[in-house]
Amino acid sequence: MKLITGKTKLLGIIGSPVEHSLSPVMQNAAIAELGVDYIYVPFPVEKINLKQAIMGFEVIGVQGFNITIPHKQSIMTLLSEVTSTAKMVGAVNTVWYNGAGWKGTNTDVEGFVAPLKEMARDWSQTTAIVLGNGGAARAVVVGLAELGFGSVHIIGRDRQKLVNFYQTWQNMPKITKLLKVHYPETLPELLPTADLLVNTTPVGMYPHIDASPVSAELIEQLKPDAIAYDLIYTPSPTKFLRFASDRGLKAIDGLEMLVQQGAAALEIWLQQPVPINTMRNSLKKQLFG
Ligand code: NAP
Repeated sequence: MKLITGKTKLLGIIGSPVEHSLSPVMQNAAIAELGVDYIYVPFPVEKINLKQAIMGFEVIGVQGFNITIPHKQSIMTLLSEVTSTAKMVGAVNTVWYNGAGWKGTNTDVEGFVAPLKEMARDWSQTTAIVLGNGGAARAVVVGLAELGFGSVHIIGRDRQKLVNFYQTWQNMPKITKLLKVHYPETLPELLPTADLLVNTTPVGMYPHIDASPVSAELIEQLKPDAIAYDLIYTPSPTKFLRFASDRGLKAIDGLEMLVQQGAAALEIWLQQPVPINTMRNSLKKQLFG
């Protein structure tokens, strides 16, 4: 049991709801392993109380915190500085106090690219297809641009949301030069061109484990060396990734993204390397026993 004293420094996560967040488990596991005098706490904060909560955090000396639904966008106006990555995503998931004010970034991008970076490939001639155009898809697009992907196709089912998604990048040529948006009907003709297929929809997530965002027949259309990446981490694997593995494709689930975004946040707060294995293992234990 960690001994909390008057000197223990506070980290945490704000959101509503925040009760089911896995971040306290992995962050406190890393904190314990490092033996640093910090504690990471979930703070339920309603939309209407966000500004007051941040002011309160400053007063009581919170060192940094993660942000989850519904504050990832609205917090941006309350920060004194936002990194270019977070500006591109349009959302902040990690905040720290830099002496003069709160600074925010988005470590989902780092989390998403981590398993792809490990492959040490040149992505410049490659094509990605991204299923979904919600919040996570935005971090994925920024990550794919950072990795240097040649083209990125977004699949969405709602015309207005697709148009809005595309238009928010209008002043970012680094993104618009890669990006095309499509309806799901286009998938059969796009899939044979893809080197990477990413699911950012919640289709297939527990408890709807028998659902897949693409059929086994469509997975057959992918190249034999294509990669299937599902942002979902429960179940592991999802039906989508099972289809991909059955086809002999490389399959990546969302656990590593979750671990790596958390590790990147903790590194910012502690300014030292963090034990990623411990974080990964604590999450696996929490999720799968
Ligand atoms: P979101 O903002 O609500 O976006 C969800 C997207 O999926 C939207 O484009 C939505 O389309 C689409 N969608 C939802 N249901 C669909 C269906 N039945 N058929 C087709 N499209 C559907 O959610 P998010 O924050 O991006 O999160 C998406 C998923 O990523 C969740 O499963 C979440 O757990 C996961 N995630 C994982 C990590 C990680 O660290 N591994 C991080 C972030 C998110 P409409 O807008 O048309 O409904």
